[in-house]
Amino acid sequence: MKDYMFNEKMETLDRGKIELIQLKRLKETVHRLYENVAYYRRKMKDASVKPDDIKTLQDVRKLPFMEKEDLRKNYPFGLLAVPLKDVVELHASSGTTGKPTTVVYTRNDIEVWSEVMARCLAMSGLSKQDIFQNPIPYGLFTGAFGFHYGALKIGALIVPSSGGESKRQITLMRDYGTTFMSGVISYGLHLAKVAMEMGIEPSKDLNVRAGLFGAETFTEGLRKKMNDLWDMDAHNVYGLSEMCGPGVSTDCDQHDGLHLWEDHFFVECIDPETGEPVEPEEKGELVISTLTKEAMPLLRYRTRDLAFLYDIRECECGRTHVKHSTIIGRTDDMIIVSGTNLFPSQIEEVLMKHQKGGVNYRIILEKKGYLDLMAVEVESLEVLSEKEKDELAKFYTKEIKAVTGYTPMVRILDPGTIPRDGIKAKRVIDLRDQGG
Ligand SMILES: [Zn+2]
Repeated sequence: MKDYMFNEKMETLDRGKIELIQLKRLKETVHRLYENVAYYRRKMKDASVKPDDIKTLQDVRKLPFMEKEDLRKNYPFGLLAVPLKDVVELHASSGTTGKPTTVVYTRNDIEVWSEVMARCLAMSGLSKQDIFQNPIPYGLFTGAFGFHYGALKIGALIVPSSGGESKRQITLMRDYGTTFMSGVISYGLHLAKVAMEMGIEPSKDLNVRAGLFGAETFTEGLRKKMNDLWDMDAHNVYGLSEMCGPGVSTDCDQHDGLHLWEDHFFVECIDPETGEPVEPEEKGELVISTLTKEAMPLLRYRTRDLAFLYDIRECECGRTHVKHSTIIGRTDDMIIVSGTNLFPSQIEEVLMKHQKGGVNYRIILEKKGYLDLMAVEVESLEVLSEKEKDELAKFYTKEIKAVTGYTPMVRILDPGTIPRDGIKAKRVIDLRDQGG
């Protein structure tokens, strides 16, 4: 069955037309940046490239990369390509390592953001008939506003419940008959637990039947847990504030890759070490250029997110826009344990394999002498006997070794013992730099 498309004409454009639009918009963006942003003009000069050198889509490779560091250096408004009076909204990410990064929008940028987010929400099943609850903190982060604008564009009834106060979220869901929810998936799982503590069975007593979740790695195992707990169809949205926020791509009803809106974004996949393109279906770092952004266009922005691009082909859903895999990890959060490279998402996939395992876990890295030690702590779904804990720990140890090549220490904890602070779960705790 073909699912509902927000903008069928654009979502099903043939490849030739997509590429024509991309080339036209890429050239415009390069000119705009070159003419209006002194910092970028200098970068292009250093790379010995002029706007007129961009004649084909492949020529994008002549352009220098942009990185988070470029945004930090130009904090807050150094990369503006329009006068500040034309800017209508601002968002910022927290600066865990120094200055925050700020992104800005013209009225048209907000319009484009609403459009791409509406496509993502419609792809996940949101329609005018829905009651849409948005349990994401409204503030400087892009998340809540992206979902809000997209849902507004669709015409769903928005319940802007904002973040936190989990019991209140459940009460609102019950009172208003919420049918669709957003957020990060670990919070959705947490809400299911809270509902059950209140004597409410999410799959039976609440009406939520679909959801769109972003901002965390999103494995198939987590998606299945979410679907089972809520009796819903969970989708995954990808995005980053530098592009617009959430809304860059989402998985369709095939749940096999995320369609990225190529009329607004141009995506490449590169080897993070060499900067050279990798083959389709080969893992690399996603590099994205904005094609329609006015206030702060970015070209060849290194996302640090690792994924692969699908070979271009028509998807069963009818959409023609390129698909990328779910994010496998970030170049930043690759863990190196005694010379073995691994990602938290690989471990999560294993932990979701056993029905007795809970959704709450953390990876603790320690040093003993010169040796790296990795412990994986995971809560069981229900309280288990010592014997059952032992068996479960053995199962996980074996499976994690099979997937990563590294043998971890696995500890099974009782439900509710791992602290949850804030909205995102802290999955990796690295104690190795603190001596010992
Ligand atoms: Zn599709």
